[in-house]
Amino acid sequence: MQLDYDCVVIGAGLVGAAQALALRRLGLSVAVVESRRPFIAGTLGDTRGLALAPSSRNLFETLKLWPTLNTRVTRIRHIHVSDQGRFGATRLSADDVGIEALGYVCPADHLLATLESALIADAKVYWETSLENVSTSGTAAKVSLRHALGDTEILTRLLIGADGPHSKLRNLVGITSRNRDYRQSAIVANLDVQYPELETAFERFTRSGPLALLPLDQGRHVAVRCCANSEVESWLAIGDEEFLAELEIGFGHRFGSFSHLSQRSAHDLSLNWASEIVADRIALVGAAANSIHPNGAQGLNLGLRDVSGLANAIEQALERNADIGGSECLRAFSDRRRSDQRAVVRFTDSIAQLFATSLPPIGILRNLAMFALEVTPAAKRCLIRRATGAFDEPLSIPSRL
Ligand SMILES: Cc1cc2nc3c(=O)[nH]c(=O)nc-3n(C[C@H](O)[C@H](O)[C@H](O)COP(=O)(O)OP(=O)(O)OC[C@H]3O[C@@H](n4cnc5c(N)ncnc54)[C@H](O)[C@@H]3O)c2cc1C
Repeated sequence: MQLDYDCVVIGAGLVGAAQALALRRLGLSVAVVESRRPFIAGTLGDTRGLALAPSSRNLFETLKLWPTLNTRVTRIRHIHVSDQGRFGATRLSADDVGIEALGYVCPADHLLATLESALIADAKVYWETSLENVSTSGTAAKVSLRHALGDTEILTRLLIGADGPHSKLRNLVGITSRNRDYRQSAIVANLDVQYPELETAFERFTRSGPLALLPLDQGRHVAVRCCANSEVESWLAIGDEEFLAELEIGFGHRFGSFSHLSQRSAHDLSLNWASEIVADRIALVGAAANSIHPNGAQGLNLGLRDVSGLANAIEQALERNADIGGSECLRAFSDRRRSDQRAVVRFTDSIAQLFATSLPPIGILRNLAMFALEVTPAAKRCLIRRATGAFDEPLSIPSRL
């Protein structure tokens, strides 16, 4: 049977683009299918700042993208977590554990533009094309695609779903997912801060939901305001001055005044946890496999670990001259990834539930926990490990070029 590509990736988001570039390093022919237009053409705007773990930096170094990303990256050396109106607070510092940084914040649009330019130079991308259907035979997956100019079919050895939390591929092959609607949204905007604290990320739990402030490049900051879905419209509708004033109150006026607000965007928050990440000739990565609450800033980092895990399983199959879409290779990928995915899903889901409540007993327990962390170095180190991935193994992407 004549195959069109060794691998086809559905979705050119951050994870799909990174996956395709990783597979190209293995010398494989790769096509990517993306329903939207290219970002470089200026059709997408994302004001988020994405916190990258040190291991994710390592992956981008391997893909030779870090020098470009680094022009707009800000180091995080300290994380400050507090609870509005209560005594508990904890401060995590890179110095506590003797590392250079707990993480790095990169503007989401810069990250996607950088990945997209590399992708366009290195792989075939079917833009404005949607996955419609899939069928598998013993040796190949047949992928049906829809484009305004006409439908087409392509054959591949391995089909990879990087098509986000509502993955059509996951649904088409009958993989179920466990879902939890947090009934919350994150409102994101960029702003200027009067008294910034260098290289520090803040997370604060308030009565109306968690608040975060992360440093961006050029002296800007990104604020994330989580709120109940029923409040989203009013948070988007109020004037800039009122919105900034509410944020200042939320942060206890710690940073002086906020100014120069960008446009605000709202992101719905839910958990989608796939029951399986492989099926016949199919692998799921990134949000298609696990879409989590952003409270731990871990979703993309988790997805990049999927990218590395799949690339390494494929490399081992190539070493053995084995089928890269065969069950042995896919089982190796799934075995490698499941415990990490389970741990991150449970951690972020527990935090989301613990901090979603303002009931007094829970609030007091939460504060005692933060106080205990503050005075117990071993517990702090453990939290840094779990919350930032700062001690994770460097992510490797093998090369056959
Ligand atoms: C407010 C917020 C803040 C966050 N902050 C952080 C952070 O600091 N650090 C971190 O690690 N993570 C963070 N995350 C999580 C991170 O953004 C996601 O984990 C990551 O973007 C998922 O990328 P993805 O490529 O897997 O999926 P997506 O970004 O959803 O990409 C999926 C792609 O597939 C395409 N697609 C969908 N269906 C089809 C189809 N049928 N055919 C063709 N194409 C299709 C879509 O157009 C899209 O381009 C945050 C999330 C939110 C909401």
